[in-house]
Amino acid sequence: MHTIRLIYSSHAREGVGYRDFLAIMEKASETNSELKITGILCYGAGKFLQALEGERMVVNALYHHISVDERHAHCQLLSVEDIEVRDYAEWTMKVVDWSHAGSVDSRALLLDGSGMTHFDPDLMSAAQASRFLRGLAAAERELLE
Ligand code: FAD
Repeated sequence: MHTIRLIYSSHAREGVGYRDFLAIMEKASETNSELKITGILCYGAGKFLQALEGERMVVNALYHHISVDERHAHCQLLSVEDIEVRDYAEWTMKVVDWSHAGSVDSRALLLDGSGMTHFDPDLMSAAQASRFLRGLAAAERELLE
C-alpha cells in the first residue's frame, strides 16, 4: 500500500464562494474520514489550492471525482508524491479562507516563505504550493494553541 500527497489548484465558478465550500466540506469531511483522507483546502481570490493525503488508489479516485465538480473548473495537478508521514494528519480537510488567514504580517511571511508575492496558485510551482500549504497549516495550528 502506498500513501501519497496530491496537490492541485482550481478556479471557483462565478457565484461560488467560501460559504458554499464550507457546506461542501461538511459533507466531504464525513467522506474523507471514511476514506482515511487528510488534507487542507485554501480558498482565496476565486481560486483553490488543495492537498489530499491518503492511500494512492483512494486519493486518485477522489481527485477525479472532485475535478468534475461543477462548482469549480481548470483543475491543475501540481504534484503527486509518495509520503512516509502526513503533513495534515489531524484534519479530514482543513478549510482556510485566505482573505481571513491571520494578520497582514503573517500573510506576508507565508507568501515570502513560499517565494510568492500574492496568493495565486496558478503561478505556484509544486514546491511553492507545498511550502505555502505547510506554512498555512503551521499558522493555523498556532492559532489553535
Ligand atoms: P455522492 O452523491 O455521494 O456520489 C455520487 C458518485 O460519485 C458515487 O456513486 C461515486 O461513484 C462517486 N464518488 C462519491 N464520492 C467519491 C469519492 N470520495 N471518491 C471517488 N468517487 C466518489 N469531496 C470530498 O469527499 N472530499 C474532499 O476533500 C472534497 N474537496 C473538494 C474541493 C473542492 C474545491 C470542491 C469544489 C469540491 C470538493 N469535494 C470534496 C466535493 C466533491 O466534489 C463532491 O461534491 C462530494 O464528494 C459529493 O459528491 P456527490 O454529490 O457526487 O456524492
